[in-house]
Formats: sequence, C-alpha cells, structure tokens
Amino acid sequence: MSDQADHILQSIHLVQKLRSGVGQVFKDLSDGISEYSEDPQNRDDTENQGKAEGASASSKESKSAQSSKESGSDKAEDQKHRAILKTLKKSLETISHDFSDLEKTGASIGPVQLFSNIDNLSLDPHDKNAVMHSQLLQSYKWTNKMHELASQAVSILSQNTLKRTQVPKFTNAKKQKVNMLAACQVPQASVDQLILQLDQTYPDSSISIHRPLGGCGIMQIELGHTLRAVVVLRGLMIEWVKVKGFGESFKNEDGQFDIWTASRYQVFQKVTDNAEAASLRFYAPAMPQLAIKSFVLWLNGYKTLFSAPCVKCGKFLLNNIPPTWRDYRSREPYHDVCRP
Ligand SMILES: [Zn+2]
Repeated sequence: MSDQADHILQSIHLVQKLRSGVGQVFKDLSDGISEYSEDPQNRDDTENQGKAEGASASSKESKSAQSSKESGSDKAEDQKHRAILKTLKKSLETISHDFSDLEKTGASIGPVQLFSNIDNLSLDPHDKNAVMHSQLLQSYKWTNKMHELASQAVSILSQNTLKRTQVPKFTNAKKQKVNMLAACQVPQASVDQLILQLDQTYPDSSISIHRPLGGCGIMQIELGHTLRAVVVLRGLMIEWVKVKGFGESFKNEDGQFDIWTASRYQVFQKVTDNAEAASLRFYAPAMPQLAIKSFVLWLNGYKTLFSAPCVKCGKFLLNNIPPTWRDYRSREPYHDVCRP
C-alpha cells in the first residue's frame, strides 16, 4: 500500500515536471518566433540603407563592405537560430525523457482499490447518478446518528426500573422461562379437572373443554343466556379468546370448531376486544391456574351485559351499546367511554 502511494507521489512529481518542460518549450518557441519576426525587418532596413548609399556614392568599396557586413549578420543570425533550435531540442528531449519515466511509473501502479460499490457509484459519469452518491452518504450519516441516539436511549431506559410486567426481584429470566414452559406443559388430566371444578363453581354457566386437534384445548363457556365464549388453552395458558352472542355458534357448516370468525354483533365484538385485553391482564405464568380462574370469574361479570346500567353515567345504552367493559377487580359495568 505504501509502495503504491510512493508511486503515485512520484507520478505526480513527474507530471509537474512535464508541465514545466512543456511550458519551457512554448517559451523557447515564442522566443524563436519573436527573433525571426524581428530579423527580416532589420534586414530590410539595412538593404534600404544600402540602396540609398549606392544611389548617392555608387562606389565599389562601399558595396563590397556592405556585402561583407550582410554575410556577417547572416552568420550571426544562423548561430542565433541554431542556439534557439538547440535549446528547443533540449527541452523536447527532457519532455520525452520525463514522459518515458512517467510511463514506467504508471505501469507499476496497480488498479486503484475501491472500498465499496458506493465508490464505484461516485465514478459514474451519468448526471442522474451523481446526485445519488451524495444522497447515500447523507443517509449513511443519518443512520449512524440514529444508531448512536438509540444506544443512548437504551442506556437511559435500562436505568428505569418501571416495567409493565412485574418480575419478582430475585427471579432471573431463565427461571421465569422455565415457569412459563411449565404452564404450557400441564398434563391434560389436570386441565380437565380444573375445567370441571370451574363448571361446578358457576352453576348458571356451562363450561366444557374440547380437543379437536389433540394437544390444545378449546374451553367453551356459555354464560347464562347472554353470551358464548371460546378460550383456546395451551396447557393452562390462554392463547385466544372470542366472544359471540348466545344465538351464534362456534361451529361451521361441517360441524367443526371455527374460532376465527368474529361475532356479527358490535356488542360482542367489543366484549371480545375487552376479553382479549383481560386475558393479558390476568396473565401469570407462575400461577396459571389462578390466571384462568380470575379470567373466568371476570368473564362471569358479563351475566348482566344487558341488564345492568353503567356505573358512571347510569344509562343502560350509550350510542345504542350497553356497558361492554367490566372492571378487573370489582367487575362493575362501564361503557367504553365511561371507563375510570
Ligand atoms: Zn356509561
């Protein structure tokens, strides 16, 4: 790499030398031309002078003297021209010598190593692409800046102890993961037992479990004559919740479970949204049984979906919708907009 740099430096010197050599040639040429353009004038002057002298005196001696003078000045001019030509030849020789040197040095320089495709782009002579290089550089700078700010933000946020999920202080992440897996890998028998227990706890609702695909269980809840809900369980973890009206079904035309289609009533769509939020609220991988019990207890609060007024505004209907939200602790009914 240093060799390369040396060669390049040498070439630059040679180019500079060449430039001064060429300048010298031009100077010599202009000197020669000015000499040449001055000389004929002098010659004419002397001739005229000679004719005038010849006319007045017309002596042989004067003529011979003049001719000898002329031949003397011719010689001097010849010498002058020769000297000029000599210097011109010399400077041209210097140029040719320097040029061959430059060629030699140039041959030893390998192709310039480009760092990336972006550098190639900068060499693109097309006008449209000339802008792209500077734009790319600009965005590269911005990306760097953003990266720097993001890492600063991370360091500041990591000092903040407030977190959405409450993790016991001395429980490390690995242990928590094990707990979560434990919640998913509960034997089917104990899940069935829990469902049976829940079914007995709420006599006005029917809770049952189905396993159409083996591992995962679908807990079906019929709440009085108000609503039907399906809760997909992986072990004892709630994975999916859907709520529909009592008149609607979770089975498709082929008699298979359809957990995806939403209720056609806006009321139950809203209840579904709130039930999904609740399943996250009661999420407790360390105590999965408690999580499901809490969720079912909370969902039981919808028994009075069409019969209890909103706690805040006291109305049964607001925008033709009954109170579709239930408080997580007290299970008191609220309209979505009346929530505390
Ligand atoms: Zn209200």
